[in-house]
Amino acid sequence: MNNKWSKFGNRFTRHTGARELMDDLGIAINTKRNICMLGGGNPAHINEIENLFRDELRNLIDSDSEYRRMLGNYSMPAGEERFRTSLAELLHREYGLEVTARNIGLTAGSQSGFFLLFNLLAGKQSDGSSKKILLPLTPEYIGYSDVGLESGMLTALRSSIDFLPDQQFKYRLNISELTINDDVAAICVSRPTNPTGNVLTDDEIRELANLASVNEIPLIIDNAYGMPFPQIIFSKSKLFWDSNTILCMSLSKLGLPGIRTGIIVAREEIIDAVASMNSVLSLSVPSFGAVLLSNLVASGEILNISKAIIQPFYFERMKRALDSVHQAFHGLPYRVHKPEGALFLWLWFPDLPISSQELYSRLKSRDVFVLSGHHFFPGLEDEWPHQHECLRVTYAQEPELVHQGLLIIGEEVRKVYEQSA
Ligand code: PLP
Repeated sequence: MNNKWSKFGNRFTRHTGARELMDDLGIAINTKRNICMLGGGNPAHINEIENLFRDELRNLIDSDSEYRRMLGNYSMPAGEERFRTSLAELLHREYGLEVTARNIGLTAGSQSGFFLLFNLLAGKQSDGSSKKILLPLTPEYIGYSDVGLESGMLTALRSSIDFLPDQQFKYRLNISELTINDDVAAICVSRPTNPTGNVLTDDEIRELANLASVNEIPLIIDNAYGMPFPQIIFSKSKLFWDSNTILCMSLSKLGLPGIRTGIIVAREEIIDAVASMNSVLSLSVPSFGAVLLSNLVASGEILNISKAIIQPFYFERMKRALDSVHQAFHGLPYRVHKPEGALFLWLWFPDLPISSQELYSRLKSRDVFVLSGHHFFPGLEDEWPHQHECLRVTYAQEPELVHQGLLIIGEEVRKVYEQSA
């Protein structure tokens, strides 16, 4: 058959970084080969956490009413009601957020939440004009790149770079260059940022919130790795929300990517719109994650396990990976972004003689899967050589595997610099 897709079909079936990433992840999980999978965003398998979820699940399936709540009933289109109420109470009790269940909506994974939110706010408007989502700090999450129903829905700003000791650097918000034109529908940041592990400071978040409020547009903060859970965040930072903020969370990085649960905290009209879109797309959203986490959220235990188990686990892995980086790249002109959170090290090879995509291919042929940095500049219109000089490496995998992978990356990068000398 000669595939002639619609405009929508062509847009949503083209080759994307997200597809490449998820295909690589599938190959690595399903192969018997010894692959160093440093590419995907899969969370680690933390025994203590997995045992806890397993116990919760056993208790739930042994109860008729909980079994039905989890598996036997459609949920409300905004998501399972009791979970939303418990989460609202937790956010109020622990962080003082003025929210109720009507401020909380669930989606089938937060990735699909971004599809809904971006297309709700940006793109063609009813008056014929077009609006965009502004990403004020690139590099930024690959998953935002392709969710727009039409092209050109993102616009982005280069960050400035602070050079730090120990071969480190940190991206900073270029606040003086941040102007909000009429065509900006919302500002969006991930915190911690995937891919860099950067955490926008409380001041930076306040400045963005202020800018959003003055311009009467929402500020979307993607906390997939951050506060209040799973808290894979190593720098001092506060949870921020006000009625102009759309806070996005996920159960994936707690260790539950298979149950596809995203959470949106926002003002009521936005949650109502998400509920309407959920019902058109899928009638209702999965309840599995919401019910599985219900008790942990109602008791607040979810915050304790995030802080006492998940955060130290990743901190330890990050430290080991950082040591391996310094060993693998010793003597080379490398830099590594200050790791303040999430699961990744972001490596920068200034003046790299080949593109990061070519380096990705060479590494893949040696069974080391990473992500080429060029995928992480969604919406950036001007060409920035820096885009082709970076790699993202996850440290969620076993430390030995991460170490071995980094040594191979070191060998390949060394070859590239030496051959061009
Ligand atoms: N936001 C960020 C920053 C992410 O890194 C991811 C996944 O890697 C997501 C959102 C989407 O998460 P999920 O759809 O699994 O909830």
